[in-house]
Amino acid sequence: MTAQEIRNSYLKFFEERGHKVIPRALLVPQNDPTTLFTGSGMQPMIPYLLGETHPEGVRIVDSQTCLRAMDIEEVGDNRHTTFFEMIGNWSLGDYFKAEQVPWMWEFLTEVVKLDPSKLYITCFIGAPEYDIPKDTEAAGMWQKLFESKGLSSGVADIGSEEDGYRRGIKDGERIFYYDGSKNWWSRNGNPEKTPVGDPCGPDSEMFYDFGTPHNPEYGEHCHPNCDCGRFMEIGNNVFMAYRKEAEGKFVPLEKPNIDHGSGLERIAAAALDDPDVFKISVMWPIVQKLEAISGKRYDSHQESMRVIADHLRAATFLAVDGVVPSNKEQGYVMRRLLRRAIRFAFELGVEQNFLQDVVPVIADLYVDDYPEVKENREKVIEVLVKEEKAFRQTLRKGIAEMQKMASGELSGADIFRLYDTYGFPVELSTEEAAIKNVELAKDWREEFDEQMEEQRERSKTAAKGAFKGGLGGHTMQHKKYHTATHLLQSALRQLFGPELRQHGSNITEERLRFDFNHDAKLTPEEIKQLEELVNGWIAEDVPVKFTEYPTQEALDMGAIGPFGERYADTVKVYQMGPDDHIVSLEICGGPHVDHTGQLGEDGKKFKITKEESSSAGIRRIKAVLQ
Ligand SMILES: [Zn+2]
Ligand SMILES: [Zn+2]
Repeated sequence: MTAQEIRNSYLKFFEERGHKVIPRALLVPQNDPTTLFTGSGMQPMIPYLLGETHPEGVRIVDSQTCLRAMDIEEVGDNRHTTFFEMIGNWSLGDYFKAEQVPWMWEFLTEVVKLDPSKLYITCFIGAPEYDIPKDTEAAGMWQKLFESKGLSSGVADIGSEEDGYRRGIKDGERIFYYDGSKNWWSRNGNPEKTPVGDPCGPDSEMFYDFGTPHNPEYGEHCHPNCDCGRFMEIGNNVFMAYRKEAEGKFVPLEKPNIDHGSGLERIAAAALDDPDVFKISVMWPIVQKLEAISGKRYDSHQESMRVIADHLRAATFLAVDGVVPSNKEQGYVMRRLLRRAIRFAFELGVEQNFLQDVVPVIADLYVDDYPEVKENREKVIEVLVKEEKAFRQTLRKGIAEMQKMASGELSGADIFRLYDTYGFPVELSTEEAAIKNVELAKDWREEFDEQMEEQRERSKTAAKGAFKGGLGGHTMQHKKYHTATHLLQSALRQLFGPELRQHGSNITEERLRFDFNHDAKLTPEEIKQLEELVNGWIAEDVPVKFTEYPTQEALDMGAIGPFGERYADTVKVYQMGPDDHIVSLEICGGPHVDHTGQLGEDGKKFKITKEESSSAGIRRIKAVLQ
């Protein structure tokens, strides 16, 4: 089965079992300033797992595009990628283990036709100190399924990862119990770290055994959670059955949830029985194109081809979702991905523009399944090709800069500056130096590596900051700013007409930011009018409430949403003000206050602090409540 077929049959499989197929969320989370990217299939579902009603019901299935920028340096082996798809199904207080376990078994062994003798399972060992039992229930279900195929079904206690390396696997063993560090889900990890008030629970992971030899560098013996690459985790079933009520106190949920996520690329690799995820149907054509362009073979240039294929696939989807290369946030990550791809192409001997040949190949792998890829295909190619051209100009500037430095010898710090500021590949610096007869400082490599390591630490710390939490944006301050954003948009439309639409929004604890289409700079008079309108509605203290409608009905009644947004079949429409005096009517999923007067608590007033151009035809407003 190809990756595309696996994705589509998964959606169909769960649709036939009463699930609603929902569109993927964008790679850039809306209404969540704490996260740069959608990093898992569960992330957009968290509000619903925490108890909010999902407009599409209690059985949901999707395929979610994900990006993990923190893994950028890890790409190059046979399984790490920054971009991937997670296929996921959810029960929001509906079915539970007894359905989920056999369904996953049926999907993997009957639909994808994985060899069941290569599947291994992990379950939760229990936490007696909190009265949370060992998950013998799930283990028993898996056991029966293995036995139904006449396979061994031995169950064993492992505990921690270290225990796994000490103990290994004995003959006939199939199902393994691990502790809370491996088989417990909460937003922060194991039972101790589970935030008070949060749902949580044991999980059961599914592994595929590629049968490759164990690498003892990872530990003495191999076991499912070993990192050597023999076992690949292909999916996880979270049985969200508890809520942490207080430190040390876990109470069973009346209506537990199922949260399942599987890496599409990994299942596709298992279907090929080849641990190299770059061989699957949504990767291999990219590699083949790189072979054709460079005249080099994948077998002898695996690392560079993997980095280029992964990074360009990620950048392509970022472009599909409207991100453009820049020096900030998501745009910066996109720029970094593109520059790394171009730099690695030097190692293949590709020094000319090549994105115009590769990006269409990537887009065409997705056009049939994602209409937005088809719709934006030409624009995406244009954005990426333009960035490549600009980067090659930068490279030329780097060469000029180097010639200036080249009066004395070239130090590691010089080479790092060329790399960091101009994106100048190290190999280019050293080659160029040789051509120009410039001496390299004796310790240049050491000095360069040192500065590189420091920079890596800095960006890791920054990325961690942005990834912390996961469920950002639900504090009171955030709700206030989000609600104020609705009022600002209403005020703008009142002033400039109904053509005006949201073209982006970002909220922090300190301010709101709102982008909209408008041709001219706002005058001080206009800014004053906007502030007066918003403050007027805050003073009126009108109620904020929502109703769910079929999308078409919502649009017909004049509810507005961000420009270019795609919607599910049913949406939440937030109305501010009574029916005879509607202040704002928006399709929205974000967090809101209950009545607008809350924005004016402690004598606070809405104030626009900045108005500027964001891009051609788009203005940007920053505002605070103070
Ligand atoms: Zn191993
Ligand atoms: Zn809203």
